[in-house]
Amino acid sequence: MYTLGIDIGSTTSKAVILENGKKIVVHVVVPLGTGTVGPVRALAEIFEQSGISREQIAYTIATGYGRLICAEADEQSSELSCHAKGIHLLLPQADTVIDIGGQDAKALKLSPLGRLLAFQMNDKCAAGTGRFLDVMARVLNVPIEQLGPLSAASKQPAKISNTCTVFAESEVISQLSAQVPLADIAAGIHNSVAKRVAGMALRLGHPTCLAMSGGVALNSGVVRAMEKEMGCPILVDPLCQSAGAIGAAVLAYEKLLQAKERR
Ligand code: ADP
Repeated sequence: MYTLGIDIGSTTSKAVILENGKKIVVHVVVPLGTGTVGPVRALAEIFEQSGISREQIAYTIATGYGRLICAEADEQSSELSCHAKGIHLLLPQADTVIDIGGQDAKALKLSPLGRLLAFQMNDKCAAGTGRFLDVMARVLNVPIEQLGPLSAASKQPAKISNTCTVFAESEVISQLSAQVPLADIAAGIHNSVAKRVAGMALRLGHPTCLAMSGGVALNSGVVRAMEKEMGCPILVDPLCQSAGAIGAAVLAYEKLLQAKERR
């Protein structure tokens, strides 16, 4: 039985087809978020890549910022419960997840069965989100995928004292004109994000086993800086950006099972 999960984020659209609630058959990430053609493109790509037709999908759940305008979905679900389910499928040993997306950051505490026990969230300010990193990468004229590898060469991370994206941008421009090495500025940017997000995550207590999800988990510089701030290693699955969509597909499967049991 196939279920479909769609996560329509602020920056990207993700879709996942799951077989029997466990096996990831195919996943796609389109770099266009809510209010764009991203969701339509993600669905077109997932059917084309998998060879599975819409009629073969038993149930579809949408999550993310754009979930309410997804006509394909049978149901919508909150990002928090979908992320919890998705991470539990990818990394069942994790008891804490830090998810950093394009426009928000969340920390989730999970039970051993992957139930959401508690959470902290920042969706009010771009600082500590992918948006902050995207703005800074643009100022440095470095592709976002290169920011992590670039910062690995830093010997003396620059200090970014402003958390506000607008002020931090001016600070980075000043450092560029003072000829601070790019690697040090990149490392300073990652430290700034890590400090802010770790401050929020530690309100849930110290993790036993910490994982990161969301597109920012693909940034090795942020992961390194977060490990330092949190004082523990961080697990990152290659499918970390699709955790919400995976969780939505898991939830879709569980809903079908529950409906069957009621019959
Ligand atoms: P949302 O769900 O809010 O749309 P995502 O979880 O997809 O956001 O995360 C988007 C963010 O992930 C981008 O703002 C960017 O900073 C970061 N990102 C995406 N791909 C990469 C990559 N290959 N390397 C580093 N960072 C990335």
